[in-house]
Amino acid sequence: MLLLTADLVLTGPDGDRIPDGAVLVDGSTIVAAGSRAELDRHPGAAGAQRRDFPGATILPGLINGHAHLVWDASMAMLAHYFDADDAELLLGVVGRAQRALRAGVTTLRDLGDRRGLVLRVRDAIDRGELTGPRLLGSAAPLTPPKGHCWFFGGEVDGIEAIRAQVRHNAALGADVIKVMASGGQMTPDSPPTWAAQFSRQELRVVVEEATAAGLPVAAHAHGTGSIAAAVAAGVSTIEHCSWQGEQNSGPDLRDEVAREISARGIAVCHAYPPDWRGFAEFVGEQRFAEAVQRVRWMDERGVAFLPGTDSGVPTSVFDDYAGALSYYVEAVGWTPGRVVELATAGAAAALGLDRVGRVSAGFDADLLVVDGDPSADVHALRRQRLVLTRGEPVTPA
Ligand SMILES: [Zn+2]
Repeated sequence: MLLLTADLVLTGPDGDRIPDGAVLVDGSTIVAAGSRAELDRHPGAAGAQRRDFPGATILPGLINGHAHLVWDASMAMLAHYFDADDAELLLGVVGRAQRALRAGVTTLRDLGDRRGLVLRVRDAIDRGELTGPRLLGSAAPLTPPKGHCWFFGGEVDGIEAIRAQVRHNAALGADVIKVMASGGQMTPDSPPTWAAQFSRQELRVVVEEATAAGLPVAAHAHGTGSIAAAVAAGVSTIEHCSWQGEQNSGPDLRDEVAREISARGIAVCHAYPPDWRGFAEFVGEQRFAEAVQRVRWMDERGVAFLPGTDSGVPTSVFDDYAGALSYYVEAVGWTPGRVVELATAGAAAALGLDRVGRVSAGFDADLLVVDGDPSADVHALRRQRLVLTRGEPVTPA
């Protein structure tokens, strides 16, 4: 048994805090969380190894909803991806997953992978052969021939090919089916971001086939038409969700679609990078302000948000999730406490994970100890003192 104590325990949900708190861990499971005085009286505490963290906060390990472990976040990431054979790529995946873990990310959803490499790493971590975060993987995203990110290997042409690819990904062990509902960046000669890549009927078939395999669907969608189609098809999460109008006509915000996203409990993963200030400079003040306004507009309509970073694309590193989360505080204007909830209990709910994201008896011991109070200062998430993954301590970044 391991007894951790700190000035504060944030259990996950915003406002749920235990001053002068403690957490008792048995193997990979949290057996109790409460005040230090309560846990000192717990029968398990007597023989437990004790670690005190004055001035620190214990909270659930962070959950990153959108990353690409096969990419290295360099400016030449695509060339590196094409040049690497599977063995090299596999080692890169392991290294980047471990960097994310050391920075406090104990669960990471990967949304674009070649030949299920990330799933193999996930399995090795699950078997205890490798140290790493809990991984969820999509395998190769579905995209039309030469469509956005075709090079992951998920090109499909027509309904039967869609069904076959979903079944193939499910058989590989995917945790989620990813579909590129619209075009995207970084794939030369593929449809523009605002353009739909699949019809409504095709998206419906993706969801139908995924549901038959017991899997949720993550839809990459920039254009408003593709967002509406993905919502109507019944996907679980929408990635980027940037509400672009047809033919680059500017933002096309549709009230009824946003309300439907909210009503269906679909989570939006905005996927902004840790260096969002650099990104803001790159896209220009006006486009950045529009993006922030879209987040507020969706929030006013009750849309649930799932934070993610798109780590792996240029500059989006794996070991600064706190930087990406600071966007919601410093650009959007939400409280740090709300953002901690989004990256822990909220993200777990959005991903359908019922054993992580909270510091509570019976949950897996994925824990983070940081100096200071991240519910008052989001940057405290960078000051890691300890990371626990399934009860195993990891040296922080
Ligand atoms: Zn992505």
